[in-house]
Amino acid sequence: MARQFFVGGNFKMSVFYPSTLEKGQNGTVQSIKEIIENLNNAKIDENVEVVISPPTIYLLLTREHLRSGLEVAAQNVFNKPNGAFTGEISVSQLKDSGITWALLGHSERRTILSESDDFVASKTKAALDGGLGVILCCGESLEQREAEKTIEVVTSQLKAVADAVGKDWSKIVIAYEPIWAIGTGKVASTEQAQEVHKAIREWLKKEVSDEAAEKTRIIYGGSVNEKNCGELAKQEDIDGFLVGGASLKPAFVDIINAKS
Ligand code: PEP
Repeated sequence: MARQFFVGGNFKMSVFYPSTLEKGQNGTVQSIKEIIENLNNAKIDENVEVVISPPTIYLLLTREHLRSGLEVAAQNVFNKPNGAFTGEISVSQLKDSGITWALLGHSERRTILSESDDFVASKTKAALDGGLGVILCCGESLEQREAEKTIEVVTSQLKAVADAVGKDWSKIVIAYEPIWAIGTGKVASTEQAQEVHKAIREWLKKEVSDEAAEKTRIIYGGSVNEKNCGELAKQEDIDGFLVGGASLKPAFVDIINAKS
């Protein structure tokens, strides 16, 4: 069964877009509008599911201006439905604003903000229960890879989610993102990426279900650009990409169209 190719753009907090900003500057209303305009005018392969994830403050603006057919993800969501949680945002508030996806478990949040596997899992459950799709990030550090712990680390991150959500993974896209490849320009080789993706699919088959193994999209993230995406996209178990830096540039469109 063919899985629909999926490409996500993670704008993070810093947005650098050539014509309006200098390198290192954060995004502005103007720069976000420019990215959206580029996407709106681009020829995008209709078979690809595209989801972009701007900083929270620009979610509404993005949804308002982005053409239909392209979706928007929040970079975070809280695990409680409502209450006094200063600074947090709920699943229902995202839904109310036309946001259909959440990006959860990114390594920057796991490491800098100390998000545990269980916390990520509880947010994933809340998002799914509330009807959002989830781009669920997992991945190992360089130290863990060198200690040959990659599969152990990744599957324990996923196990926490399986324990929380059970067997229905139909609205989860797994993003395998080796930490050493994020924002470093050091992309995993096609063999390294395919090996982990295959192991994740085998884990899904064993621990979740045959259906989850067959249908769940497993996308790769970590220094993907318009030059390296073609080879990665040919791998059997790579169903798309989560793109950071390159999602802010016009060449993001080439990554979206990597299969065409
Ligand atoms: C990311 O932040 O999810 C990411 C993959 O970043 P980059 O593409 O810049 O490595």
